[in-house]
Amino acid sequence: MSMRIGYGWDSHAFKPGVPLRIGGLTLEHNEGLAGHSDGDVLLHAITDALLGAVSAGDIGSFFPPGDPRWKDADSAIFLNLALEEIQNAGYSIVNVDTTLVLAVPKIAPIATEMRERLAELMDLDPSVVSIKAKTPEGLNQDHVAQAHAVVLLEKVEDPHNLKSMSAIIESQKQLEDVVENLLSQVHGVQPRSRDVIPTFDTEDIT
Ligand code: MG
Repeated sequence: MSMRIGYGWDSHAFKPGVPLRIGGLTLEHNEGLAGHSDGDVLLHAITDALLGAVSAGDIGSFFPPGDPRWKDADSAIFLNLALEEIQNAGYSIVNVDTTLVLAVPKIAPIATEMRERLAELMDLDPSVVSIKAKTPEGLNQDHVAQAHAVVLLEKVEDPHNLKSMSAIIESQKQLEDVVENLLSQVHGVQPRSRDVIPTFDTEDIT
């Protein structure tokens, strides 16, 4: 059986005045995570792990940093695109393991709820989703949240009948069309023209 592994990492600084979104949940805390989107550091790490597992680029390839269309966007949109990518490549998720690194708030009290939310977002059984939380001891990073994610995929389809979305995206215009379609599906946002930007821009401020 063909297996693939993917790894993702992300970090966001804490910032007053915004809601704290982690793992698809809104957590009670006096600060949120700075970001162009909702700053969900855990969903961003999982998204990159999934994309990485099928060599489909990274979150910045599909959602360029600073694009006004993704302002305050629900990061589940990014995750959904990555899930489509692995499905189109003929893979399904075996399991997902994650580690959050942050000083506050404590994750343990809501870890079960977060695990169930992640499983729901990925249409998985919670038994194959793992969340671990660590405090950044000795790192002097108490005002930053980091997330690491590892995913294992297994092949489920005939590779000759399916191509990954990345493989069939041959031009920047096609990539733009994919994003526009996603936007219209999720938010009903009307397409608009904009300047061409380079693909596979690994800068990520989402
Ligand atoms: Mg991010």
